[in-house]
Amino acid sequence: MKITFLGTGGGRFVVLNQLRATGGFLIESKNLNMHVDPGPGALVRAKEFKKNLTKLNSVFVSHRHPDHYIDLEVVIESMTGGAKKKRGILISNESVIKGSWDEPAVASKFHLNVLEEIYILKPDEEISFLNTKLKTTKCVHANGKCRGFVLEDEKKIGYTADSEYYNGQEDYFKKCDCLVINCLRPRNAEPYGHMTADKAKILIEKTKPKLAILQHFGMRMLFGVSERVAKWIEQETGIKTVAARDGQSYEIEKENKSLANF
Ligand SMILES: [Zn+2]
Repeated sequence: MKITFLGTGGGRFVVLNQLRATGGFLIESKNLNMHVDPGPGALVRAKEFKKNLTKLNSVFVSHRHPDHYIDLEVVIESMTGGAKKKRGILISNESVIKGSWDEPAVASKFHLNVLEEIYILKPDEEISFLNTKLKTTKCVHANGKCRGFVLEDEKKIGYTADSEYYNGQEDYFKKCDCLVINCLRPRNAEPYGHMTADKAKILIEKTKPKLAILQHFGMRMLFGVSERVAKWIEQETGIKTVAARDGQSYEIEKENKSLANF
């Protein structure tokens, strides 16, 4: 089972200046070829990092913020052979799929109609699809409908999505083989709905994943900070922790070794 990052940037200035790519990440296993949070540039970065989006069989969108959904329609077109065959699964929430009067849905009816299945989930809902199980998790974020997940496939993968740390968050992510944390801000920064590095350490300490991957970095996590933070967390917790890089793949197995570094 493998995770590949088509981007590791987050937050307005990193996204707008493309200081890091923002294409989300891919989860590949024998069951799954899932695109998570296809933000701006997902299609271009897939080409750059030699990933074939026509092989996707599912897409997860955590919430209706541009750095998580902008390329959704073109990703759906890739997955469905140019919207010519009914294929693939979309997992998200009401504001992404249905929208509201002031925030319309982020994919057209045309795009939604070519999908095989659409799941509109609230926190703590569990679905089975493609021989895997996915349970949504609660997020504390400016967008109140943000969802993370715990995916049980060949391995157990947790994704916090955009959320500040809250009491009880750890209950979702215990015993993950890999925990992906959107860690936008450095140590002791104001959270404002985002994970800070000191709180990421607490979450890792309490959940004890085999591998913790930090990503979705804001401005103050760039220029070597995220790597130093990952090292600090690993030293403090004894748990393998890495700062993801654009284009990097991780094989999720016992050794948790990184596969490629572009
Ligand atoms: Zn957000």
